[in-house]
Amino acid sequence: MALVALKSVNKTYPNGFQAVKDFNLDIKDGEFVVFVGPSGCGKSTTLRMVAGLEDVSGGSISIGDRVVNDVHPKDRDIAMVFQSYALYPHMSVYKNMAFALKLRKVPKDEIDRRVRGVAKTLGLTEMLDRKPRQLSGGQRQRVALGRAIVREPKAFLFDEPLSNLDAKLRVTTRAELKALHQRLKTTTIYVTHDQEEAMTLGDRIVVMSNGLIQQVGPPLEVYRNPRNRFVAAFVGTPPMNFLDGALEKRGDSVVFLDGAGIELPSHPARAAALAPHIGKPIVLGIRPQMFALEPSGHSDAVMRARVNVVEPLGDTVDVSCSTTRSPHLVARLPARGNPVPAGQDVTLHVAMDLVHYFEPGEFGAKLML
Ligand code: ATP
Repeated sequence: MALVALKSVNKTYPNGFQAVKDFNLDIKDGEFVVFVGPSGCGKSTTLRMVAGLEDVSGGSISIGDRVVNDVHPKDRDIAMVFQSYALYPHMSVYKNMAFALKLRKVPKDEIDRRVRGVAKTLGLTEMLDRKPRQLSGGQRQRVALGRAIVREPKAFLFDEPLSNLDAKLRVTTRAELKALHQRLKTTTIYVTHDQEEAMTLGDRIVVMSNGLIQQVGPPLEVYRNPRNRFVAAFVGTPPMNFLDGALEKRGDSVVFLDGAGIELPSHPARAAALAPHIGKPIVLGIRPQMFALEPSGHSDAVMRARVNVVEPLGDTVDVSCSTTRSPHLVARLPARGNPVPAGQDVTLHVAMDLVHYFEPGEFGAKLML
């Protein structure tokens, strides 16, 4: 059964701006779902509607077996954690965590049991008497989390909870959150603009753009099989490269031509599916990891490119290069052997069994889904 269900949900702000359009999603009990997309895509608005902090303009939201459109936030049995921890500065960690329970008139010994239990889980036991200002950013975020957990809600809602942490702490706190979810199994909706955070945390991710869901699925499924060019560009780092061109038939094979010297024969198994698109404009999507300097064991094709910038990352190196028609291509290559020289031409092998083909345009559909 869906614990949280959004049916044809729309949001139009009073100024007439439609921030969320026909949003449909069933979230299962215990699931960790991440709303992800660029700034302004409507992910926070959707979360805030689930929380009851924004009115729903159309459609319905259910939590458990009741429609909550008109239910006050405090009666929805959910707990929200924001980017700004919103802790009470004058209260100790203990009191911050106990506050919501006190308001609900939970008996004192029950409050004590829950606060101490959760503090132990989150490694906050030693800090229960401290004030928020005596804590690091990461510790404050854990208190905010603890405050949500002690309420034992039906669902957690997170709005960019890690954005105030530095890069290293983000990664460790992210792992802690995941471990916590595996233990508590509380239904969670999490909002982030960071696709890596979405990929690592979510059982499913919901990729949004301009108020619309572009794709919903397990992270790796979305990564491997993006529905359209927008999703392909948004999920994965560095972003997928796109080459504009057209398909041409040559004997039994179908070849991608960019019209400026690049010719990439498609994988033979794909020729039949690509046949209807011969002669039409097409966009070839190549992830940076699909390039290699040597034959890769995949179905390789080769192309020449000029190396512009080389960025070593440790075990890999990002090579920015250009061709006549594509000035910004990135290849992520293993950092072994001789470094790739900036300013020179290289031959790149392309794993043609892994590349994607799209119709033209920012939201061009992927062919051969
Ligand atoms: P961000 O990561 O920047 O918060 P988001 O995807 O969460 O982005 P929302 O905050 O949901 O985006 O906003 C979606 C759109 O609705 C944006 O274009 C925003 O400018 C607009 N919007 C948000 N709040 C209001 C409001 N009160 N009145 C009018 N428009 C609003």
